[in-house]
Amino acid sequence: MFGKILIANRGEIALRIQRACREMGIKTVAVHSTADADAKYVRLADESVCIGPAQSNLSYLNIPAIISAAEVTDAEAIHPGYGFLSENADFAERVERSGFTFIGPRAESIRLMGDKVSAKQAMREAGVPCVPGSDGALPDDPQEILRIARQIGYPVIIKAAGGGGGRGMRVVRTEAALITSVNMTREEARVAFGNPTVYMEKFLENPRHIEIQVLSDNFQNAVYLGERDCSMQRRNQKVLEEAPAFGIPRKLIDRLGNRCVEACRRIGYRGAGTFEFLYENGEFYFIEMNTRVQVEHPVTEMITGVDIVREQIRIASGAALGYTQDDISFSGHAIECRINAEDPETFSPCPGKITEWHAPGGLGIRVDSEIYSGYSIPPFYDSMIAKLIVSGKTRNAALMRLRRALEEFVIEGVKTTIPLQQEIISQAEFIDGQYNIHWLEKYMAGKKKA
Ligand code: ADP
Repeated sequence: MFGKILIANRGEIALRIQRACREMGIKTVAVHSTADADAKYVRLADESVCIGPAQSNLSYLNIPAIISAAEVTDAEAIHPGYGFLSENADFAERVERSGFTFIGPRAESIRLMGDKVSAKQAMREAGVPCVPGSDGALPDDPQEILRIARQIGYPVIIKAAGGGGGRGMRVVRTEAALITSVNMTREEARVAFGNPTVYMEKFLENPRHIEIQVLSDNFQNAVYLGERDCSMQRRNQKVLEEAPAFGIPRKLIDRLGNRCVEACRRIGYRGAGTFEFLYENGEFYFIEMNTRVQVEHPVTEMITGVDIVREQIRIASGAALGYTQDDISFSGHAIECRINAEDPETFSPCPGKITEWHAPGGLGIRVDSEIYSGYSIPPFYDSMIAKLIVSGKTRNAALMRLRRALEEFVIEGVKTTIPLQQEIISQAEFIDGQYNIHWLEKYMAGKKKA
């Protein structure tokens, strides 16, 4: 096992990884920008290194600075967390070439799955069902593009091969709008992701977002840890997640989980990963794979008891999983709310000083956050300040507990999305599990009109 790990991230996930390390007896190195010098994850780490100024591209995305930090502190491995460099194949490669272990999949796997066109191709070959669409990248010829769209049938969605974070997508409902939309998406993708490749998919009108968590070691052992429902979204970004997914027959999930495990073996996948699907009319359609730990991983931990970050570290150190699918069991229901420092009506970010902070507690409550009273949220990074995760024996018990926990949560000094979360969980459609990826946007639009 490693003696020391450098965590190339910040905020709650840096703290989350640190906690796993501490429980494993591993020393930690935090890296931080000048804006994060006072952060809790920095203070709690065994060692810390300042890697640059506030702007992420000069600090948390600064590969040479991070590798130097690992060198001067004698770390053996680097955990990238999520976001920042976590899905950057060049980073993974440079980490390994510099003599450190990258806690994540091999660079080839990241590259394969990072390009959504090649990812879909690989999944189709592995027998994983995909959203109907163009076979690969869209050609330049407008006539050919029109033909492909006609074949798929409107509405279609144009997506950037290199897209992520809910960006680089455009829905097209009529033939007249197609070519302009393709060109606009291409241009945006070129600017935002440095890759103008786009592809086309059938736009599903009422799907749910269901994803499968997998763990896979270096020895062809792989398991799935069930599914998460992440349909509560705004602008293609997740707001609330739950596990298991409401009302989907276990048999369907197991069949899908087995396909994902097969796909892991086929591509020689290593570490934790997530296969994302849209689910409509009883069918699953693969959209993409995330080759890292995800924000919403705790809901899976709550119902399986598996520490996903610990497993990432064990796998990276060369350990075998040591258990099989039969050893994985699911118990109860878990829900996660992402709490952002944002105006709950307009969603504009609201950084600033936290004057009061009282997190909820009690049975079945977990708060993953690095906030404390007196902390100043810097304006440079993501606005998520806490994840509130609750579990209960049943979905209803978890819901009652979530309601109680949100009431108990006191955050003063900045606006947060707690009121929005409270509103969402009191809606009949949410309570009945009758929501899909478009529900929240429609609900917000309806409120504006009223
Ligand atoms: P990203 O990498 O940016 O997260 P994804 O491919 O995972 O992009 O898609 C993000 C979200 O966009 C999905 O959860 C879903 O809400 C929506 N979406 C993507 N593809 C489709 C589609 N074919 N039909 C309808 N919605 C889609």
